[in-house]
Amino acid sequence: AEAFMQQAEKLAVVGQLAAGIAHEIRNPLTTLKGFVQLLRVARPVKPEHLEIMDAELRRIERIVQEFLLLARPQPAVWQTHDLAQVLDDVIALLDTQALMRNVRICRDYSPVPQVVCDVHRLKQVFIHILQNALEASAAGGMVHVVLQPRHEGVVVRIVDQGAGMSPERLARLGEPFYTTKEKGTGLGLMVSRRIVEAHRGHLCIASEEGRGTTVEVILPATGPWTARWTERTRNEGETQT
Ligand code: ADP
Repeated sequence: AEAFMQQAEKLAVVGQLAAGIAHEIRNPLTTLKGFVQLLRVARPVKPEHLEIMDAELRRIERIVQEFLLLARPQPAVWQTHDLAQVLDDVIALLDTQALMRNVRICRDYSPVPQVVCDVHRLKQVFIHILQNALEASAAGGMVHVVLQPRHEGVVVRIVDQGAGMSPERLARLGEPFYTTKEKGTGLGLMVSRRIVEAHRGHLCIASEEGRGTTVEVILPATGPWTARWTERTRNEGETQT
């Protein structure tokens, strides 16, 4: 069973990454294709057109690098991080997608303690939740990313005003391979939950059909006691791999 789970997780990561890469790269590719066609007929070649092409190529390069970082199987690395920075990085990665969908991403960060986390895996969680929120949103919609202190730790709340889910659909969320999307894997939230739980955190989802969805990622902050579980988790991680 454990071997299956590991296989399923690998599958999930590959599926998500493939879907994510396809989404993120299609837009700059479309732009580039348009400009190549233009270059065929337009003379003289305008330097600003080449600049746009160059910028789009660099965007593709950045996306591939960022995704490779996430895809490469790595042992868990536990370090103290500023979640506001982590969230900003994730939002930057999904900016184009939000723009193309005409969905605004609003940040509302309160000062919070730093957290001990495996930042690449945690980024994967936020990318996934944010991508779901964007996909559920209608054009002109808004997605809020809220960062607040909570008890001994931190809560990241991603709120969309999109399609939402019926109670029946919400109940099936934990099931692997449950998806309503043509290109979905139905594994993203399951993997996300496992990653958050490996951080000794919780993933909570509330949703109302037609009104939207709120996903909360609750994480413990750093502290004398966190340093201990960090040590323990690191050892656990090593015996697993
Ligand atoms: P995938 O996105 O590949 O389908 P997930 O595990 O992330 O896999 O999600 C499973 C299903 O849960 C989705 O297909 C969708 O129906 C529903 N879902 C997830 N997030 C949201 C959301 N923010 N709003 C509405 N439905 C959602």
